[in-house]
Amino acid sequence: MTSSNALQNLIDGRLVPPRNGRYLDVVEPATGQVFARCPAADSTDVEAAVAAARAAFPGWAATPADVRARLLERLADRVEAELDALAELESRDSGKPVALARRVDIPRAVANLRFFAHAITQWPSESHPMEERALNYTLRQPLGVVGCISPWNLPLYLFTWKIAPALAAGNTVVAKPSEVTPCTAARLGELAVEAGLPPGVLNIVHGTGPDCGQAIVEHPSIKAISFTGSTRTGAAIAASAAPRFKKLSLELGGKNPAIVFDDFDFEAASLDTIVRSGFANQGEICLCGSRLLVQRSIYERFRARYLERVRALRVGDPRDADSDLGALVSEPHYRKILACIERARAEGGTILTGGGPATVAGRCADGWFVEPTVVEGLSNDSATNQEEIFGPVVCLIPFDDEADAIALANGTGYGLAASLWTRDLKRAHRVAARLEFGLVWVNCWLLRDLRTPFGGVKNSGVGREGGVEALRFFTEPKNVCLAL
Ligand code: NAD
Repeated sequence: MTSSNALQNLIDGRLVPPRNGRYLDVVEPATGQVFARCPAADSTDVEAAVAAARAAFPGWAATPADVRARLLERLADRVEAELDALAELESRDSGKPVALARRVDIPRAVANLRFFAHAITQWPSESHPMEERALNYTLRQPLGVVGCISPWNLPLYLFTWKIAPALAAGNTVVAKPSEVTPCTAARLGELAVEAGLPPGVLNIVHGTGPDCGQAIVEHPSIKAISFTGSTRTGAAIAASAAPRFKKLSLELGGKNPAIVFDDFDFEAASLDTIVRSGFANQGEICLCGSRLLVQRSIYERFRARYLERVRALRVGDPRDADSDLGALVSEPHYRKILACIERARAEGGTILTGGGPATVAGRCADGWFVEPTVVEGLSNDSATNQEEIFGPVVCLIPFDDEADAIALANGTGYGLAASLWTRDLKRAHRVAARLEFGLVWVNCWLLRDLRTPFGGVKNSGVGREGGVEALRFFTEPKNVCLAL
């Protein structure tokens, strides 16, 4: 950041202002105050970034995997060395508690870079011998220039989750973080230069979806798009990329269920995890469980214990170590969440706790805080239970038996993540197999092994990230058949 707190694009190894000279305000959600400016880049800057990435590609693709890995490790070291400062920046930019950014977001960004640095050096090739007639072997070659577009909820975490496998596999990258939370990605760009990434290998352009993101998606030299964001934007990107035959990975929205069976262990830490699964990061995680399905025989007991915990959550200044929830990311998002709560009331829902803005005194008096809100009495078919809210709002829904639970869980257009809570192992396997979701957690939530496939089904996306799935996405397999 410069003295005027103006972020810059990273193009061809240099930090440069947008060619049109235009900037967007970056606002601190906890105070409502502008604290930085982000380039409003457009197709001209994207063109320059693509040109740099194209020029850098042959050299980067020919760089041995262990050398690429070492550069990613050096970048990881630099991010790790700035963990505290990056966590504070992430919190300031997004409204999330700084403690959460320090515990989850920034360490995970480091882990993403290290994981794919290691993974690329351990990735075996395949061969298919045809007895004595021929030998097939598969080359997995980088695609060329790829586009990575990420959202605002886990800014550096999701940005690195995309660029790390893309770079490790030998591609050069044009990446766009969310214009709502651009700061940590901008700092990462500076650290990439310091770490010695060759010019043009990683280019970062900042700007809005329509002006900058769209230019990346439409650029004929960009071979693949890895996108995480809303289902609506994902559909627009798919429509634009399809006639250009680009490879697409789309990680989209969700309406995730947490399913609590009657043998639920009230004494274990499970209840705390279920509360966290609804309200961590103010509910702004695509994996948050916003539909809490509870077996009718324990419904009242569970509800009482659950509400006790939710009421104990503290909404406060993201800088305070004891704030469980910080501010929502932006004023439009804050207004959207309040409108969703109003809609829940209008649909006939009962607000059991929360239900409106939260006031935080002092420096945060003008911030965008919302109370953790629990609703009951709405059917699974209500708009509240069908549409993604992406805020601190959870709906309680009773169910009768296993079949009922599965039907309710599967009964939305989304299919990202489900969690189920039971001590019956057979039931856990049975239900997990029948849930139409890309991820199922049994007696846990957000426990992530970076080797596992990550992604959703139905309107939650296409393709998988994580481990070899990401390396496969960012490479083109080529079969070589050699007659013997
Ligand atoms: P969004 O779709 O508004 O924006 C995401 C990114 O796409 C931003 O960088 C934005 O500038 C860009 N963009 C917008 N329009 C574009 C266009 N036409 N072409 C190219 N790029 C464009 O999403 P958001 O509001 O930033 O993020 C919240 C959404 O992300 C939620 O729906 C959430 O569920 C989803 N999400 C999904 C996952 C997952 O892994 N499945 C993870 C995190 C967030």
